[in-house]
Amino acid sequence: MKPNLSAVAWCCSVAMILVLTSCVPADKPPSAAEETEASSVEPEYTLGSENTHNRWSSAIPPVLTVPSGAIVEIETKEATDGQLTLESTSESMASLDFNPIHPLTGPIYVEGAEAGDVLAVTFHEIEVLNWGWTGIVPGFGFLADEFTDPYLKTVTVEEGQTHIQFSENISIPIVPFPGVIGVAPASEEQLVTIPPRENGGNMDNRYLGVGTTVYLPVYVDGALLSLGDTHAAQGDGEVGGTGLEAPMRIVLEVEVKKGGRVLPEPEYETDDYYAVTAFAESIDGAARKATLFMIDYLVAERGLTRQEAYVLCSLAGDLKISEAVDMPHYLVSMHMPKEIFN
Ligand code: CA
Ligand code: CA
Repeated sequence: MKPNLSAVAWCCSVAMILVLTSCVPADKPPSAAEETEASSVEPEYTLGSENTHNRWSSAIPPVLTVPSGAIVEIETKEATDGQLTLESTSESMASLDFNPIHPLTGPIYVEGAEAGDVLAVTFHEIEVLNWGWTGIVPGFGFLADEFTDPYLKTVTVEEGQTHIQFSENISIPIVPFPGVIGVAPASEEQLVTIPPRENGGNMDNRYLGVGTTVYLPVYVDGALLSLGDTHAAQGDGEVGGTGLEAPMRIVLEVEVKKGGRVLPEPEYETDDYYAVTAFAESIDGAARKATLFMIDYLVAERGLTRQEAYVLCSLAGDLKISEAVDMPHYLVSMHMPKEIFN
């Protein structure tokens, strides 16, 4: 079946979602202060962080069932599932067990979702809970061959805090997002959560925070949404292999979209831009796929010819290395500003 939700209907529904979210400057994830302003939505369902699993599989049963349009409050665990605490030391990093990584809250069954649909997830609020850590895990990271010794830094995070104190002279804004968000793949195989795939997963894309709607391709009934690996701060690429890893409370909205394009991989948008994501076993390969996906979007949703779309990507599209560490898959995204469309 092919694309036949009209562009107008799609834009209207997206506009309705975006009315509920905060305004974000182009290509800039919202700050913790902006996040506070966005919080006026009452959750109808809650899911605590005891409801976790750590594989991607259609065989993992849902822990919560909600209708399309539901507002859900969830809590996430930090990525090691309790192996690290505020008191841990660099030595703790050397003995990390990768098997429990990443504990994901879910799955959430969204009524009406079927293979070929899109699950839209809009983030209304994200709050960092109490503490976080970052560091170097031996054998993991873009420069794993150069940095072989374990290193750990932990920080406390108080309610309303807007920055992380990295050192005496360096503070980093808190811009929280889930490193992992995805739906169940079609397969019952129990897939590890390290590489991102078509179903999303460990995309480590720092733009997936408050003010963003993520579009996930659905493979099974109910979609089976899960998320975790929440990061309080991270740069594009996540070169060291960890963000500021922290447990969080998230208020999100889920909506099933039918009759639109069948998405090859997750896409997302804010008030200011539309974006595609693409994974591959090289940055080159992922960048190529992201460019092709943006061309497909521009042709299908904006009415451009393929040649026009390719040229527009050259003039206005921004390729971003989302993560360069979740092997064997790199993730590259392309953002297209909306202000160019009159
Ligand atoms: Ca991650
Ligand atoms: Ca992480």
